[in-house]
Amino acid sequence: MSPIQLPLTSEKLPESGVEAGSRAFCTTVIPPLDGEFIYEYGVSTHGHLAVGDVIEVPLGRRTTNAFIVSLNSDKEAKTLEQMEARGVSIRMISRESTSQRAFSPQHLSFYEWIARYYAEPLSKILDLAIPAPAVTKPQRGYRLSTVSSLSQTEALSLGPIQSRVTELLKSALDPILASTLKSKCGASAATLRSLVQKNLIEEVLIDKTDQISASADLLAIEAPSLNDEQQSAVTAIKNLGDGFSGTLIQGVTGSGKTEIYLTLILEALQKGLSALVVVPEIALTPQLTERFISRLQIPVAVLHSSLKPKERWRHWSDIVSGRVRVAIGARSAIFAPLHNLGLIVVDEEHDSSFKQGEGIRYHARDLALVRAKLCSCPVILGSATPSLESYNNALSGKYLHVHLRQKYHDAAQSTFEIVDLNTIKPWKMKSKSISPNFFLGLKKTLDKGGQAFVLYNKRGFASYLQCSSCEHVLGCPHCSVTLTFHRNAHSLICHQCSFTMVPPAICLACGAHEKLDHDAEPIFAHRGSGTERVHEELGQLFPTARIAVLDRDTASSVQDYVEILRRVREREVDILVGTQMIAKGHDLPGVIFVGIVDSDVGLHIPDFRAAERSFQLLTQVAGRAGRRSEQGHVVLQTRVPSHPSLVLTASSKYDEFAEQELAMRKSLHYPPFHKLLRVIVSAADRSVALKMAAELAQFASKLSEQLKIQVLGPAPAPIEKIRTLWRYHILMRSPSVASLQHAMKQLKRNYYSKDDTRVSYDLDPHDML
Ligand code: ADP
Ligand code: ZN
Repeated sequence: MSPIQLPLTSEKLPESGVEAGSRAFCTTVIPPLDGEFIYEYGVSTHGHLAVGDVIEVPLGRRTTNAFIVSLNSDKEAKTLEQMEARGVSIRMISRESTSQRAFSPQHLSFYEWIARYYAEPLSKILDLAIPAPAVTKPQRGYRLSTVSSLSQTEALSLGPIQSRVTELLKSALDPILASTLKSKCGASAATLRSLVQKNLIEEVLIDKTDQISASADLLAIEAPSLNDEQQSAVTAIKNLGDGFSGTLIQGVTGSGKTEIYLTLILEALQKGLSALVVVPEIALTPQLTERFISRLQIPVAVLHSSLKPKERWRHWSDIVSGRVRVAIGARSAIFAPLHNLGLIVVDEEHDSSFKQGEGIRYHARDLALVRAKLCSCPVILGSATPSLESYNNALSGKYLHVHLRQKYHDAAQSTFEIVDLNTIKPWKMKSKSISPNFFLGLKKTLDKGGQAFVLYNKRGFASYLQCSSCEHVLGCPHCSVTLTFHRNAHSLICHQCSFTMVPPAICLACGAHEKLDHDAEPIFAHRGSGTERVHEELGQLFPTARIAVLDRDTASSVQDYVEILRRVREREVDILVGTQMIAKGHDLPGVIFVGIVDSDVGLHIPDFRAAERSFQLLTQVAGRAGRRSEQGHVVLQTRVPSHPSLVLTASSKYDEFAEQELAMRKSLHYPPFHKLLRVIVSAADRSVALKMAAELAQFASKLSEQLKIQVLGPAPAPIEKIRTLWRYHILMRSPSVASLQHAMKQLKRNYYSKDDTRVSYDLDPHDML
């Protein structure tokens, strides 16, 4: 950490004693506590602390980490006067406190902006944004000994692992980490120690800086030459200049968006600037990450959800120290403390994972724009199916709108076929869910050795079980939803709260029980289906096909997910059945058929974004079909064949869909034209929740007289009960986000979670259930 001069102590102070009036103070924030805390620090620390440092401070009887948010300002002086006048004494920071840098003032402005926007204390933002500080030690590494070179006889006396180690070190320019020697050569600590004793290798401490190559190398990297569309996109973006600008690149998967990002990132790096890339879920896109790493050839911080706390902090401090200038990561990477940003990229900008679902419900794409504005740099949003928010901004000229109309590898457009399930007699179906045309498309594909994706955006075997005698439906005891039957796990599972039970043998409502006679009708009928069921049906229809399932049951960890995709890529799988998890941008050239079992899942939910999401999902998954040489075929099964989400997916008319949908949103006063604030009040006692919700709504209505906001509700939330809590919501909308923020601030002061009532505020909500 480079010491930063303090404003009040720019001249060196004598070692002993402090001059009168030269005491030094800092204001800190200590998550998760609200508010600010002032501490004094001693003369020996002068000049070594800066805004953004994490220090140790006493708090009550313990010590804790604190972030410095200001040093020796007039504000501190004033507060101190007041405190000391009240007889409150100021405590010193911990004696042996060593500081680590967590951010710099420029990042603090960004975090403060977020705090203001969501009307939350800064400490909550810091808590969310910054990983827990950990002590990072230089790591142990080895190089060939400089004193003795390896003689023939010595080489012969080495074991196979030892020879591998010396060979590897001989070929390396830099020392190699012990952990690398272990993974590459199988060298244990004992092996390495014995080589050191033989004086063949020596131990060194590797500081991260040793592994950084000079930025001049960048020029040497070979990049593919861009095609005309890509080149004109790059030129247009560069013409916007270095300051803040927004660009929407609308281009189908495979049209070469990533190539454009890489080109512009390299330019930024060559100017000495840094770059930030935000993607939906980094661990799920290892190919993309590898592509960035291999092309940029400088250290890239890869920030993903399965990092261990220590690794997370190591990346963070590499970034804040400036050692690493490129970060790529999921939603929370937007907080990464890069300096001198030259570009922010948000790939698949429409993806719903950019919105945080709980706590501070920020949206990484929206924050990308804020951050770019604050540090005057360009931001690029890329998608085949942009969010209507971004599309509208592009239409209105707020963003530069760039189109990439062709796939780079020039395969022909996929063909689409809509299958109207209403017109097919049940006995004509190949199985419960598979229509003859779906079957045919799949069969043709498998016959010629192609691979297929089958989308069914529902997990499990049956959506619910129903008593055949009294029609009772088995629901979750804690939530107002049905229990999904998972046959592989032989369980009924609540998809809201994960409550799990073994399917009962007796109907709790009427007492009917499972007959022992095997031919008898089962007491509980399976209603609806899911990926497990479709998997079974496909297994019966294509007994020799290798079928895998990709959903949250089969891929509960990132490793599982990556492994399933590896099997698909290496052609160990013929048919991949899955939920929306199969729709993400993987480059799998063998896939030539995409079948959508039920295109209507997600269409009939009470959310104004239902049609948009549905269109995006269908189009994204359809985009998996036919890359490279082979034309793809897509079959969509539906019961509403004329729904625009479907028809316009099948005719690949994003713009038409977006314009229709925007017109509707405009007339109904929905985003992006109006802003929304959703408040959910929940409590175990239904009437308690309703009472508070009604009071809150009334308070909001009073505010609405001066502010231009409309208050809707309270109404029961579409999912009335989750985890035993009854839920009511109030929706406020206004053309002005400032009005909503103003209202939110006032509301938060009066209505907050306490006792057994919970209140949650969601500005720009994406979840309406
Ligand atoms: P997108 O990000 O839009 O999905 P990509 O940038 O991944 O598209 O490009 C799709 C494929 O085309 C990739 O395999 C990429 O390597 C290749 N590609 C894109 N642009 C070029 C180019 N200018 N020269 C060579 N190959 C390219
Ligand atoms: Zn439940």
